[in-house]
Amino acid sequence: MIDLLLRLKLTLLRAVSCRKPHQVSYLARAELSRALSEGCPVCVLEAEALRRFRFWFLNEYYGEAAWIDRLRSSVGFCREHTWMLVASDAPYRLSYVALYLAEGLLARSPSPWRRPAPCPLCSQLAAMRRSWCRDLARLLEEEQFAQQYRASPGLCPAHLQMVLESAPRPRQAFIAQALNLEGLHLGGHP
Ligand SMILES: [Zn+2]
Ligand SMILES: [Zn+2]
Repeated sequence: MIDLLLRLKLTLLRAVSCRKPHQVSYLARAELSRALSEGCPVCVLEAEALRRFRFWFLNEYYGEAAWIDRLRSSVGFCREHTWMLVASDAPYRLSYVALYLAEGLLARSPSPWRRPAPCPLCSQLAAMRRSWCRDLARLLEEEQFAQQYRASPGLCPAHLQMVLESAPRPRQAFIAQALNLEGLHLGGHP
């Protein structure tokens, strides 16, 4: 009986802690706030992340064991990110990458052409996008940030939708208001 009560208490505690509002880190708040003045903050931060990645990949990551494993398991980057690196004009480093990818392909069996993992850069960017949109949904609940947003160029349509979807359902109408979307029809709440 005591065991049962203890388990019940733990379940309740877990449920309460799950409802704790999402906390935005100081760094994320500062970055999103700065990016707001330059355009869609998600597009701005994504472009910066891509530039940073290109620099670090071509200078360090391309030869690191973790990235070699990751790229072997995805058989390289997607077409878009491969071209981004090819356009960087770093033939020696990219030929080294091509070499270990080819070695990885030859070592794979029985179906060497099957792509088992998605492009690691696409996955990384998708996770960052999700995190920025979740942070924005949280920050837009603050009047000061909402005012800053309304004075900015605003989110692009794709990221506007992502931010709305990142907010908990009961808060979506409030976020839509902060985003100046009062007339928007939100999932079953006319
Ligand atoms: Zn955008
Ligand atoms: Zn990609």
